[in-house]
Amino acid sequence: MNKVVRMDFQKFPVGMSCEITRAGSCGFVIFGASGDLAQRKLLPSLSLLFDKKIVPKNFFVVGFARTKMEDSDFREKIRKNMPGIHEDFLSRVHYVYGDYEDDGSYAALKMKIEELDSVYGTENNFIFCLAVPPALYGDITGKLVGNGVMKKGFSGKPFHRIMIEKPFGRDYRSAVALNEHLLGYLDDSQIFRVDHYLGKDTVQNILVFRFANSIFEPVWNSKCVEYVQINVSEELGVENRAGYFDNTGLIRDMLQNHMFQLLSLVAMEAPSSYDAESVRNEKQKVFDSIAPVDIDRIEDCFVRGQYTDGKYPAYRKEPGIGAMSCTETFFTAKLFIDNDRWRGIPFYLKAGKRLDRKETSISIVFKNNTTGIFGDFNISDLEKHTRNILTFKIQPEQGVTLRFQAKVPGLKRCLAPLNLEFDYIDLYGAEAAGDYASVILDCILGDQMLFWRRDGIESTWKFLTPVLKYWETCERGMHFYPAGSRGPEEADRFIERNGHSWIEEGD
Ligand code: NDP
Repeated sequence: MNKVVRMDFQKFPVGMSCEITRAGSCGFVIFGASGDLAQRKLLPSLSLLFDKKIVPKNFFVVGFARTKMEDSDFREKIRKNMPGIHEDFLSRVHYVYGDYEDDGSYAALKMKIEELDSVYGTENNFIFCLAVPPALYGDITGKLVGNGVMKKGFSGKPFHRIMIEKPFGRDYRSAVALNEHLLGYLDDSQIFRVDHYLGKDTVQNILVFRFANSIFEPVWNSKCVEYVQINVSEELGVENRAGYFDNTGLIRDMLQNHMFQLLSLVAMEAPSSYDAESVRNEKQKVFDSIAPVDIDRIEDCFVRGQYTDGKYPAYRKEPGIGAMSCTETFFTAKLFIDNDRWRGIPFYLKAGKRLDRKETSISIVFKNNTTGIFGDFNISDLEKHTRNILTFKIQPEQGVTLRFQAKVPGLKRCLAPLNLEFDYIDLYGAEAAGDYASVILDCILGDQMLFWRRDGIESTWKFLTPVLKYWETCERGMHFYPAGSRGPEEADRFIERNGHSWIEEGD
């Protein structure tokens, strides 16, 4: 474990630009309002935005789902899930039950939101958030437009927008088909493809860190960086989402969306300005530059694994999972970005369920000091301890750490690695608004910077589809690991073959 040097922070006064942009009037409709995402993330975030007066009084929420409930039942359900919720917010929450396929249900929804629009003065501004199984995204959008609940072209004043959750497709063809289907009904400026990781302060900090400071850009390239590691480790298994997960797997669930977004933020060039199109243009260049995988040598670039009996029961023994399931609960990938900045530098991406820790982080591992004058001073046997490493801690710890070498007091010939560290919670207190509040606010504001663009979704699926197809054959290249461990041993051999090692919290 390295010593940690806490920086003696001075919190500087923030400027006017740090004031939160407040949203205008809006009615927010949640499809699948009885479900997990609505209850655990969307409604608490909406309530927080309302309580903090980030959304105005001209605001209401309508839950829509098949479960039969009255307004009062729905409010009671929310009260149970969110003890202490403010009644002022709840009084604006309404419910319509209906079937996602039934035109009559959309007529009832239309009548309800038009009535609420005049009660709350929301000026015909509506967001429709599809918190339902992905197979319903296309049909619901078609029905909303077909029944006149949403109007194509309403992207400004007034606005009619949809928020669509991941997974957006399950391969290249289905993602293209879904995009084309949606764009047959709506303009792209009305479609908000959610990646809630982009709502995290720690993720948004990556661009600020890189481009608002002058000291990092000169070393942010293949000349100075040895490799980059993006790590998403979870202690949890599939919990109550077995059906969804077993049909999806970790590559579709994590790599295609969140991890490719993190990769693009680390690798992209500076955008011409900090707006949605400029930022997404630069991300797209990264996605387009990822070198395709040679499927004949897939084991050079990918390892996949599944947890077996260990500290917890095996994946195949989880309720709702088949005894012969070949869904991956772990993977590592080695990707190369074929451009002048990054050519030849590996980006290692690693994710797993039922590992020994919960940690999402990005480490930029710099090349070893080449002067060599302290070569025989070093006390560390571990080569990774001698490198400078900049780590973005995304969750649960939130901050940035820089590892460097320093002289050990009193001992002339002794160096030791130290970490210079800052922590969001230490500095700013309790967690900020939360990722869903941030993406909901931006959707109300009509800012698509935190959302996937069509081309990005399609490029990332295009890259991954041959890999997923290769692994459709059960057992092919599956490495098992005990639940609660560090993952399969093959993952260590995989990175060691390249002369590198995984960077972990506490190393
Ligand atoms: P749920 O499985 O809880 O489903 C949401 C609601 O959809 C249910 O309450 C149910 O409502 C309705 N529903 C479920 N299955 C069907 C079906 N087969 N046919 C028709 N309606 C159905 O999903 P989540 O809330 O967990 O997730 C919603 C979406 O968000 C999914 O696409 C998921 O991938 C995505 N997502 C979820 C996250 C989470 O943390 N939960 C995180 C990131 C993305 P009713 O029966 O009342 O109509």
